[in-house]
Order: sequence, then structure tokens, then C-alpha cells
Amino acid sequence: MKAIRLIKPGSPLEAQDISIPPIGVRDVLIRVRAAGICHSDAHYRAGLSPAEPLPLTLGHEVAGVVEKTGAGVEGFTAGDRVCVHYLVTCGQCTFCTAGTEQFCAAAQMIGKHRDGGYAEFIAVPAPSAVRLPDEIPFEQGAILMCSSATSLHAFNKARLRPGETVAIFGIGGLGISAVQLARHFGAAEVFAVDINPQKFEIAERFSAIPVNAATGNPVEQIRELTRGRGVDVALELVGLPATMRQAVQSLAILGRAALVGLTREAFEIAPYSELLNKETEIIGVSDHLASEIPVLLDLVRTGKLDLSRGIIRTVSLEAGTVNGVLDRLEKFGDDVRVVITP
Ligand SMILES: [Zn+2]
Ligand SMILES: [Zn+2]
Repeated sequence: MKAIRLIKPGSPLEAQDISIPPIGVRDVLIRVRAAGICHSDAHYRAGLSPAEPLPLTLGHEVAGVVEKTGAGVEGFTAGDRVCVHYLVTCGQCTFCTAGTEQFCAAAQMIGKHRDGGYAEFIAVPAPSAVRLPDEIPFEQGAILMCSSATSLHAFNKARLRPGETVAIFGIGGLGISAVQLARHFGAAEVFAVDINPQKFEIAERFSAIPVNAATGNPVEQIRELTRGRGVDVALELVGLPATMRQAVQSLAILGRAALVGLTREAFEIAPYSELLNKETEIIGVSDHLASEIPVLLDLVRTGKLDLSRGIIRTVSLEAGTVNGVLDRLEKFGDDVRVVITP
């Protein structure tokens, strides 16, 4: 089968002809119908975040059709529509049994630590296969398992309550779900902060108030729009020290900043005025939980989370095309979500 693989960090991904993966007794073989190209994949290709063992097929946002199941698998048969929960965990350690399985020491991420979905087929342990409702297209099933799920987890971590105000820094793949999820949680006002005016069109479609950080300090703009109060919850989805600081600075008294974007750089904070005096909180967000996925699938199935309408662009399973998409993601380009449809 054809697979687009990371051979050497810092070099373009390459197409390889490899065998269809064998399945163990508890595995499911899936014919990939959609694989999302994620900003994290650009980090793996660049070597900023180690993906191994190499060579490795990237792709952690996957949806498709069950082709074959191992002898010990119950609940799935060939032909079932599924999407993939990308975290493979042991299921027995204290973190797994407490429902915080993203901290499982044995955790492996599909598309980072084991072969992912930039291929015609993928083999995953049966617990990572999640039934995809007929109403949800494969492309949406793929991307909701990463960006949308992480946005949902961020709001859960930030304890967003009805009537509160929200600022979302970065209207990319996660941001466009976050804007809608904020509405689902009953947010009174949602401010969409970005530097790319094209992102505001999508944000406004979901009644978010655009804040253009390219034309003025977003913190001041948010203060003005909230009559000096600030917001109850700020989501940082960019991964830059400057936007992390802005997220904290835009908080109201008792506000919570949930940091989702990845960076290794430190960011500054003025402890008294920005944290202590307002009892604000800075919350780290890592991945999402298996328990959040059914909620998310239901939101998409019932149309409360709309991932259609110009949000997704599809491309073929070609190394040159995929590398081009990753190049644009590195430069924070215009594409909202790009999905490979093999
Ligand atoms: Zn992703
Ligand atoms: Zn575990």
C-alpha cells in the first residue's frame, strides 16, 4: 500500500510502498477514508517534537471503514464506519483507571509513536476505534478527533460556565471548533483573536466578535469591548509566548487562561497585577480524553458543531501535496483544515 512517511526529521515526507499492516488478535484494520493534516505533523516533520521509531507514517486524525478485525475483537465488523482515538494507553495504570489516561506512562500516540493514517490502511487496537455515526462525513470524523476534541477538553479544563465571556486566541483548526463550543457551553460573548482577516469571516459566521491583533493590541481591544472587565476564560491556541501573555492579560477577576498551543519558550507574567490580585488561573491543556469523544460526536451529529461549509479542504495521498500543506501550516497559512482522502 502507499504511505506518506517521515524518514528523517528536517526533510520532506516521502511516499513509500509498504505492506498492509498485519493485525493482532485485538486489533482492527481500517481502510483510511480521511486523514487530517495537523499543525503537530509539521512539528514532527521539523523534528521539533520527536516522532519515532523512523521511518514512520504520520497522521493521527483518521477515519475510515473497518476492513478486518482480529479474532479477539468484539463489537466491530467489516464495513463499520469508524474514527480513531489517537492515544493508545495501557488501560490499567492509576491514570488510565482514573480517566486521565493521557498521562499513562505507556501511552503511544498513533501517527507519532506508531504508524498513522497518511496511508491506505491503518491497524489500531480495537479500543482506539470509535463508531462514526452515518450523519458525520469521514473528513469531519477525522479532524474532530484532534482539534475539536482538544478544544472541548480546554473548555472542560477552564470550567467554562453559561453566561461567561470567552476570548479565543488563534482561529485555526482548533479555534473554529472552540468558537462554536463556547456557544454550546452558553458563553455570553466570544471574542475571536487573530491577525488574518480571512479567519474573521468564519468566526463571525458563528457570531464571534472579531479582534484583529494585527491592527492593535488585542488586550486593549478586549478590555474596551468588555467595558474594562476582561474575559472569564481565554484560550491560547497559537503556541507563542506573546499570545500566552495576552491571554492572561485579557482575563477578568477570577478568570482562567487555558494554554493549548505548544512552545518550548518561556513567557512573561507580572505576578501581582496579572495573577495574584485577580486570582486568575493559568491552566495547561494536554490532548483530550476518551470520555469526551462521545460528547463531541453527538455535538457534530446533531449539528451543534458544524465542521462543514468551507472549513475543510481535501487533497490526495501524494507526498508533494502533503509537504506543501505542512509548509503552509508552518507559516500559519490560510487553510483552516486540510484532509487527505486516499
Ligand atoms: Zn492533530
Ligand atoms: Zn495506563
